[in-house]
Amino acid sequence: MSQIKRILVTGGAGFLGSHICERLVNDGHDVICLDNFFTSQKSNVLHLIGKPNFELIRHDVTHPLWLEVDEIYNMACPAAPGHYQYNPIKTMKTSVMGAINVLGMAKRCNAKVLQASTSEVYGDPDVHPQPESYRGNVNPIGTRACYDEGKRAAETLFFDYHRMNNVNIRVVRIFNTYGPRMHPFDGRVVSNFIRQALAGEDITIFGDGSQTRSFCYRDDLVEAIIRMMNGSDDFVGPVNIGNQGEFTIKELAEQVIELTGSKSKIVYRDLPSDDPKQRQPDITLAKKHLGWEPKVPLAEGLKKTIEWFSSIDVSEYRAPTPNY
Ligand code: NAD
Ligand code: UDP
Repeated sequence: MSQIKRILVTGGAGFLGSHICERLVNDGHDVICLDNFFTSQKSNVLHLIGKPNFELIRHDVTHPLWLEVDEIYNMACPAAPGHYQYNPIKTMKTSVMGAINVLGMAKRCNAKVLQASTSEVYGDPDVHPQPESYRGNVNPIGTRACYDEGKRAAETLFFDYHRMNNVNIRVVRIFNTYGPRMHPFDGRVVSNFIRQALAGEDITIFGDGSQTRSFCYRDDLVEAIIRMMNGSDDFVGPVNIGNQGEFTIKELAEQVIELTGSKSKIVYRDLPSDDPKQRQPDITLAKKHLGWEPKVPLAEGLKKTIEWFSSIDVSEYRAPTPNY
């Protein structure tokens, strides 16, 4: 490795954050993981605690932080609709005040800072697949707005700090990503279906299951994020990161049932408001600028995720909110 860097990962105990911490620790960097454990628990980073190049801080990004670092991955934010809607005002504060706090720190330390943005900035898209140039179809007063508009405002702050203060930024728009260490009571579709299938419970499809998502395996995602952080200063994003394999939610349920050999039945529940009907990333920019494209097809990633879910004791996990 060429240079040891001091790196802060906010939301570092979460699903994606913990994998980023692990990768950076293994690469020999000095890693600070910061989290308020709203949607995660220490077990995600237990294997890193005690290593000389890993530190864990309990802190909330809505409050200022004072650290000296070279790079920041800003991953802190609840990501599942049920949990981000539990306290929507706090969700908006996490995105906006969290962005202001990490950007202020990046400006003071001359650090590079990467924002975990989302495909949700496109809302319920009427352009398909979605390129970065598409400005989206977001309902600013709907139940998903606390997350969607919070992430959009965070992107605005990133670009304004970049233009006004020369802060070295990166913005990645992450499309639905899944894999080991998703919280079993996270409430997102992959974790819900696998947990339900393994427990022999009904599999809950919201709506008629014809809505689509494109699912990216966590290893592919982590590789893209690290490449983006370390890539050229001339390409700051926003860049879509996701897998182009697009599936209906019903197809996903059927695959999970087949791969787990479960006897679970599919049941249908009301579709939540503003639930996007379709989603697929256009990854032309990621291919061109990062030389990246996903390698893990859904069936393979699901098998690995099911294996992990089979190995954990879900009773050891506390549901972040009742909405899963
Ligand atoms: P996650 O819920 O597992 O991780 C989020 C982490 O942030 C958790 O550890 C949580 O405790 C922490 N957190 C929440 N609010 C905080 C606060 N105020 N202060 C400090 N820590 C706080 O979810 P994830 O899937 O790992 O998502 C990580 C990031 O990636 C999020 O910003 C999310 O919006 C973004 N993202 C994820 C996906 C995906 O499909 N996984 C898609 C788009 C965007
Ligand atoms: N979904 C579902 N059953 C569940 C959880 C989610 O049918 O138990 C649906 C949800 O309505 C949405 C899709 O699956 O259409 C993806 O939901 P998720 O919360 O994982 O992500 P997002 O909607 O943010 O893409």
